[in-house]
Amino acid sequence: RRNVLSIMDYAQEGRETDEVFDATCREVIRTVEFAKDHPSVPFSVFKITGIGRLDLLGKVSANEPLTNEEQAELKRVEERVEAIYKRGYELGVPVMVDAEHSWIQPVLDDMVMKLMARYNKEKAIVQNTYQLYRHDGFDRMKKHHEMALQGGFRFGLKIVRGAYMEMERERAVEMNYPCPIQPDKVSTDRDFDAAIRYLLDHVDTIDFMVATHNEESSLLLANLIDEKGLPRNHPAIFFSQLYGMSDNLTHVLAEQGYNVAKYVPYGKVRTMMPYLFRRAEENSSVEGQTSRELQFIQQEIKRRKSKVR
Ligand SMILES: Cc1cc2nc3c(=O)[nH]c(=O)nc-3n(C[C@H](O)[C@H](O)[C@H](O)COP(=O)(O)OP(=O)(O)OC[C@H]3O[C@@H](n4cnc5c(N)ncnc54)[C@H](O)[C@@H]3O)c2cc1C
Repeated sequence: RRNVLSIMDYAQEGRETDEVFDATCREVIRTVEFAKDHPSVPFSVFKITGIGRLDLLGKVSANEPLTNEEQAELKRVEERVEAIYKRGYELGVPVMVDAEHSWIQPVLDDMVMKLMARYNKEKAIVQNTYQLYRHDGFDRMKKHHEMALQGGFRFGLKIVRGAYMEMERERAVEMNYPCPIQPDKVSTDRDFDAAIRYLLDHVDTIDFMVATHNEESSLLLANLIDEKGLPRNHPAIFFSQLYGMSDNLTHVLAEQGYNVAKYVPYGKVRTMMPYLFRRAEENSSVEGQTSRELQFIQQEIKRRKSKVR
C-alpha cells in the first residue's frame, strides 16, 4: 500500500553441519524463486556463515593450508554459493551477500568478485556488502568497482556501517593485531557518507543499496538524488531498513517516491538469537540512531496517554 518493498532474510545462524548448510542453501534458493514471482520483493539475500563453517572460511581467508577434507568442504561451500547465484541469474533476481566478520571477508570477496564477473554482464545479479566501520571499507569498495570497470561487468552492492564492532575489537585485542574498525563513530559516519556520494557519482556503472537507519545519511542520499535530477525511483538506487525498525524513515521515503525495502528476517526463534542480540546491542547504543527511535516511541506513548486522560 505504501510502496514499501520486502527482502526475505532467512536469518538462520546455528549448527555448522553440511545438512544444515544444504537446507539453508535450498531455503535461500526458495527466496530467489519467491522474489521472481513477487515484484514487491526485489532482491534475495544470504549470509555465507549460513552455508559454510566460520573457522574454515577464516582459515582460507588467512591463507592457512587446508587438509584434504577441508578442501572438499570448501568446494561444497563454493558450490552452494554458485547454486544460489546461478538461480538468481536464471530468474533475473539480484542476490546480496551480507558482510560479517572481517576475518572471513577475503574468501567471500574472492568468491563474489569471480561470480560478479560471470553473472553481472547485463544486470547486477551478484551483490556484495561493504562495512564502512572498517577503515579499509571505502577503499575496498572503490577497488572492487575498478575491477568491475576493467572486467566489463556491473558492480552491485549494499553499504552498511557494520554490526560486529564489539566482536572485532575484542578479537583484535585478544589476538594482538591492529583493529580493523574505525577509531570512532565520526570516522565511520564520514566514510559512510563519502561512500554514498561516490556511489551516486558512479550510478551509471553501479547498482547499490544504502542500508541504514541513520536519518542524516538517508537524507543525504535523498537530497543528492534530487539535486542530480535523477528519478527518485531510479532502478539502481535503493534505501533499506530492517523490519520493525525505523518505520518512520521507511514510510516517509516510500511516500516520497524513493525505492525503499525492508529486510524481513525469518526463521526459528532459537537460531535467530545472534541476529536479535545484534539488534538489541544497536538499540542500546547511545551513539546510534536507533536509540532515537525509542525516544520517539516513548514520546508517542506519553502523547497518547495524555490524550486519554
Ligand atoms: C537493511 C540492512 C541490512 C544490513 N546488513 C548488514 C550486513 O550485511 N552486515 C553488517 O555488518 N551489518 C548489516 N546491517 C547492520 C548495520 O551494519 C548497522 O549495524 C545498523 O544498521 C546500525 O547502523 P546505522 O547506519 O543504521 O546507523 P547508526 O545508528 O547511525 O550507526 C550505528 C553504527 O555506527 C557504527 N559505530 C557506532 N559506534 C562506533 C564507534 N565508536 N566507532 C566506530 N563505529 C561506530 C557501528 O557500525 C554501529 O552499528 C544491516 C542494516 C540494515 C538496515
